[in-house]
Amino acid sequence: MNQADKSNDQLSCLCCGGKKLTAESTLTSLFLSRAAWEGLPEVTDLLYCDDCGFRTYRRLLSYAEAKQYYSNYRGDRYVAERSQDELFYSQSVYDRDEAWMASPRRQKEMLDLISTRMPDTRDLQILDFGGGDGRLIANLECKRRAVFDLTGISVLPGVEKLMSESDLRQEAWDLIVCAQTLEHMSTPDLVLEKLRDITTKDGLIYVELQNQQWTSRAYPGRLRNDILAHAIRHRNFHKYLDLYSTAFRVKFGLLPPLGFVPMREHVNFFSLNSIVKLGQRLSLEIEASLISLFCGIQVLFRKR
Ligand SMILES: [Zn+2]
Repeated sequence: MNQADKSNDQLSCLCCGGKKLTAESTLTSLFLSRAAWEGLPEVTDLLYCDDCGFRTYRRLLSYAEAKQYYSNYRGDRYVAERSQDELFYSQSVYDRDEAWMASPRRQKEMLDLISTRMPDTRDLQILDFGGGDGRLIANLECKRRAVFDLTGISVLPGVEKLMSESDLRQEAWDLIVCAQTLEHMSTPDLVLEKLRDITTKDGLIYVELQNQQWTSRAYPGRLRNDILAHAIRHRNFHKYLDLYSTAFRVKFGLLPPLGFVPMREHVNFFSLNSIVKLGQRLSLEIEASLISLFCGIQVLFRKR
């Protein structure tokens, strides 16, 4: 944290409410900038919460930008277009992600947490918020199963697709699944609050998140700022700087000297502590919280 550019006294962490935020300058990614606003990368800050480990960007996506970005999300042209901007992105990376998301083990780990607290789901209404085709809930025996998702992905048989907030209704859902979704949300605190409000009393909310934490050794300063400014207009330079930064960070858990974490579709990075703190601030009970080597961060909340 002490490697970041400057402290920020005005903001507070939306997970824990802490005031100790440090800001590290960065850029929006080439792909996000092109797909969300058809423009060049922009300078922004990555804000680190020293208290709970939550990380988010100062520049978030407007509703219109998010709508444009997600309208063709993971569609036919997704891999071809993203791989033009990101040297490490390829069909095999996409296929590996898809296989992981669809794996039976992922659903089993979720159900292992839920079934001891909710053994009989036959009379229940279940919602997957941001659940794509509904694969995590498609084979659950229940009264009603629905997915709320704004992408163009079609849902599996037996799953209802909801696209309007008015369809969600107050206190309708006995179990809400929110997996790999809050990382994409500009206001994840408001989203979890909304999910709490539409959960029945004593109902459950299952949250699954990527567990991505790293140490920054970016060495902020004038040289790094000049390098980032250069990377705005020089596409190939940007691509190689991104490759260098991302490879180090993913392989070694270290953001290397002069590296950056571009803002892509994940506009938030949670720690286990940060999502637990957020739930507690929303008066949700913690039924389970753990880091799974396979699924990442898993938290099961209960509404009282
Ligand atoms: Zn925090």
